[in-house]
Amino acid sequence: MSYLFISDLHLDENRPDITRGFIKLLANLPVGIERLYILGDFFEVWLGDDHETPFNAEIIKTLAEISLPKYIMHGNRDFLLGQEFCNATGCKLLPDPSIIDIGGEPVLLMHGDSLCTRDEAYMKLRAMLRSTPVQLDLLSKSLEERALIASNARTQSKQHTRETAEDIMDVTLEEVVRVMTEQGVGLLIHGHTHRPATHDLVVAGQPAQRIVLGDWDKHGWYLELDETQRSLVSFPI
Ligand code: MN
Repeated sequence: MSYLFISDLHLDENRPDITRGFIKLLANLPVGIERLYILGDFFEVWLGDDHETPFNAEIIKTLAEISLPKYIMHGNRDFLLGQEFCNATGCKLLPDPSIIDIGGEPVLLMHGDSLCTRDEAYMKLRAMLRSTPVQLDLLSKSLEERALIASNARTQSKQHTRETAEDIMDVTLEEVVRVMTEQGVGLLIHGHTHRPATHDLVVAGQPAQRIVLGDWDKHGWYLELDETQRSLVSFPI
């Protein structure tokens, strides 16, 4: 029972190399993988399931052809992924956070943005964008309007990242420990921060781990996990 985790591919029609890397990974999955988990920011931007483009159709087809059980979680860039996308790809939408069972051990899955609590401006924005009325309002706008809003949000986000200290953009360790304690887990897997690593920590007096998935750029990243191994792997794209 081996599971594969990826996040932060930021698939984008302007980055065909990343799409090719993703297709290559799916075609050469490590032996024994039984499930695929995508923990958010699969797409650079997702304007809604009604945004039909040749690029989106290609990705949907690629995912649909994978016969493994597939799970996808929203990231901060593709939080408008909806049921139609899931129906078309065969993915199941996972709430953030979610707990899965691996060999009898509960494992917590998150995108990771909700752990960056020191970034107060972002946390306010996140709370707004994740509310159902705001999302329904966004989806009621034309695709052109949504594209403009997304593009403005991206410009603002880049400026915010430039102006905000590095450590504020990372997760808050106390929040990690709080959430892991509350959820009763010894392993947390998330993405978002683009700081791939395996961190040892102590939760409720027990040794625990936080595994951060990597973002895809010149390299792709995946985590292969089963009862006996936790392998965070990068490969050239
Ligand atoms: Mn993210």
